[in-house]
Amino acid sequence: MREDIRSMTLEELAAAMGELGEPAFRAKQVFAWLHRGAGSFAEMSDISKPLRQRLEERWELSALKEARKQVSQMDGTTKYLWELKDGNCIETVLMRYRHGNTVCISSQVGCRMGCAFCASTLGGKVRDLRPSEMLEQVLFTQAGSGLEVSNIVLMGIGEPMDNLDNVLRFLELVNHPQGMNIGMRHISLSTCGMIPGIRRLAELELQLTLSVSLHAPDSETRSRLMPVNKAYDVEELFAACHSYFKKTGRRISFEYAMIDGVNDADWQADLIAEKLRGMPGHVNLIPLNDVAESPLKPSRRTRRFQQRLEGLGVTATVRRSLGGDIDASCGQLRRKAMETGKKGL
Ligand code: SAH
Repeated sequence: MREDIRSMTLEELAAAMGELGEPAFRAKQVFAWLHRGAGSFAEMSDISKPLRQRLEERWELSALKEARKQVSQMDGTTKYLWELKDGNCIETVLMRYRHGNTVCISSQVGCRMGCAFCASTLGGKVRDLRPSEMLEQVLFTQAGSGLEVSNIVLMGIGEPMDNLDNVLRFLELVNHPQGMNIGMRHISLSTCGMIPGIRRLAELELQLTLSVSLHAPDSETRSRLMPVNKAYDVEELFAACHSYFKKTGRRISFEYAMIDGVNDADWQADLIAEKLRGMPGHVNLIPLNDVAESPLKPSRRTRRFQQRLEGLGVTATVRRSLGGDIDASCGQLRRKAMETGKKGL
């Protein structure tokens, strides 16, 4: 298989151009085109035709194809279903906040983490996304909507830390001054709690925001909701979060989907506060999105849970739900497409 050119760093491109006998600035030209969202070599109008031909022979240039787009009438949230070169489908969501336009991107086709409340994992993982395929979600969402993207969250389908090499390369690409130049402080990465990934990220001391999908502070409940807890227990997870904070000085955000009678008891709020002591965490309470296939139901105690956490000195907010009219939560559009015959699995 030909190498995927949009996943290459500028340095790698420069080296490859050198091998082709081309000057280094060619690499910059090509890099700029790739990061402006060029879908083919033919678009690269300041590159000579013979060179474009050689690039075409040597490299693969992938481009997402828009399979479907839904725009919320309520808040403008837009959800894209993209078709990849191999026919698989992925989702991207564009959310319009006052602080800027945020894209929520997928990191894998499907997911193998098996969380009980999540639609993305129902068909398992098909494959990892390449750096280019993550970058294209940002590029083509921006081009398709005409809105400048200022923030990225890796909170779509997939577990970023189960595809960390590609995710780190994507971060390097999207952060590049000659590319999209999106600052690390404008990027969040969410994990279900893969501890080796958290430790690796801590070593890199990136300025991004780490989000940890907590969903329960006690092992028993968490193992029931999230199989990953059997491999990486929540006690070790809290320890890894404390070391992450010590190493990076960055406040961690904890995602917590409120589930009726499962994780919304007062004692669980108390336990969260106890475990986060000594670390300025932020708990994001998410009204559970009802997934048709799941017996879990949204909690009715969210406000009370929030007040209890706040009373114990833990910052807790209730996430505003966007795109309620367009299946904007994880995996739901892709599942619909799969049911109607698009290749998503
Ligand atoms: N795999 C990563 C990122 C993708 S999920 C992770 O687990 O963090 C993005 C967030 O949505 C996670 O916090 C996930 O737990 C949450 N989520 C998944 N399904 C949900 C649902 N039905 N209702 C509310 N939140 C959900």
